[in-house]
Amino acid sequence: MQKKENKISEQTFAPDTGDMSAGDFRRAGHEIIDWIADYFQNIEQLPVLSKVEPNWLKDNLPKSAPKNGEDFADILADVDKLILPAVTNWNHPNFHGLFSTSTSAAGIFGELLAAAFDQKAMLWRTSPASTELEDVVLSWLRQMMNLPEHFEGIIYDTASVSTMHAIAAAREKLDLQIRENGMSGHSDLPLLRVYCSEQVHSSIDKSVITLGLGQKSLRKIETDKEFRLIPEKLAEAIAEDKQNGYLPFCVVATIGTTSTTSIDPVEAIAEICDRENLWLHVDAAYAGSAAIVPELQNCLRGCERADSIVTNPHKWLFTPFDLSVLYCKDLEMLKKAFSLVPEYLKTNEGAVKNGMDYGIQLGRRFRALKLWFVMRYFGQTGLIERIREHCRLAKLLASWIEKSERWELLAPVPFALVCFRACPKNIKDLDALNENLMNKINASGKAYISHTKLNGKFTLRLSIGSLRVEERHIKKAWDLLNKLLDEDFPPRRKEAKEE
Ligand code: PLP
Repeated sequence: MQKKENKISEQTFAPDTGDMSAGDFRRAGHEIIDWIADYFQNIEQLPVLSKVEPNWLKDNLPKSAPKNGEDFADILADVDKLILPAVTNWNHPNFHGLFSTSTSAAGIFGELLAAAFDQKAMLWRTSPASTELEDVVLSWLRQMMNLPEHFEGIIYDTASVSTMHAIAAAREKLDLQIRENGMSGHSDLPLLRVYCSEQVHSSIDKSVITLGLGQKSLRKIETDKEFRLIPEKLAEAIAEDKQNGYLPFCVVATIGTTSTTSIDPVEAIAEICDRENLWLHVDAAYAGSAAIVPELQNCLRGCERADSIVTNPHKWLFTPFDLSVLYCKDLEMLKKAFSLVPEYLKTNEGAVKNGMDYGIQLGRRFRALKLWFVMRYFGQTGLIERIREHCRLAKLLASWIEKSERWELLAPVPFALVCFRACPKNIKDLDALNENLMNKINASGKAYISHTKLNGKFTLRLSIGSLRVEERHIKKAWDLLNKLLDEDFPPRRKEAKEE
């Protein structure tokens, strides 16, 4: 990066015993914070996507660990020389691929302190701070999302893991002694069914694979023109499965699907789940954060009837990866599925919450700390304003696309993701054209966008979610897209646009 060379002026070697001295730690720590401040300050000069070829980093690093400790300054110099070039700059304001997510200074400080405390919060005893702060921040977040009080939360690393635990709890509720007997070797166990839309995230498929239910247990339901699960089709599928002797037990609805951020009709789905006595899990990994914005709160309509709901503050709440929250109506069901207390972990505090009871992990990181820092630093108003602005920018881009004859929107824009494609007149292979455009913009290093397929069409996805994004960045990406398109397909006069 463009900044002072060799930042750590004094040599900082490990002492013969123990850790770095307090003085060295203070000095090196200041240097590292300086380094990070420079990184953020200059991030727009870096390419969004790393330009390195596969194996570049491996080929440039020694094949084995250093025999003797090295000067801290040398380590940091190699961060500049070797690590930074291979970093994908998720914090770049023109990172618009996948879901644009970014960290924040407050979150970084929370993470730093969590590393310093190094809690393994399996028991209340092994970390009262982590155990209790987790309950506090999850209660704050629940209130911000306007979810009812009966939801109690637990933090995992990712939504994939949250959802896997939710489906495990749903299976436990069946009371089929699967925990004791497993799923193999039983001719009396029917095919268990989980339902979701065909737009669902792949983590749902992975959950059923991991839980031994098998991919056959997942039935994907057709969606409507706006990529939302069709409740009537769900009801039909459940009826058909029951006729075939299968056992429906869980439905996964999504608020903010990955391809388009479409919103499944949770109210109607909840109605079916109530009638059929099915566990309703809501995947709001991306869009759950939007529910803190009063005018967007409606997106969670019906979720008050769900059994569980996952949301990821590491996606759109400026919290460093990783932090995913699973809210459950009955957290005890998770405990029933997972609690297992060996002798050496028995304690006598009485009625305390022990995090290890709610999942496969024993030790748990002090993740709540970074979310607490983020919530306190920005406050509810600050978080709301940022998410609101991202949604405004997405609508603005959508309006430019709508005005143009050479581009078209391919999905509604309920949050801060825009799905679109170039469609200049008289071009046969629009898929190839759009894929080529995406590859060119990504190779430029100036912006990163990704894609999906909608109704068989190659679709560009531009996600807006960086803490650093401003209107000028969206204009830059739009201008770049137009320039690249114009270079390959110069506009004919009648296609002239207003922008
Ligand atoms: N669910 C949805 C709707 C997503 O978009 C994603 C990732 O983008 C996930 C789940 C998985 O998230 P994670 O990486 O936290 O497992």
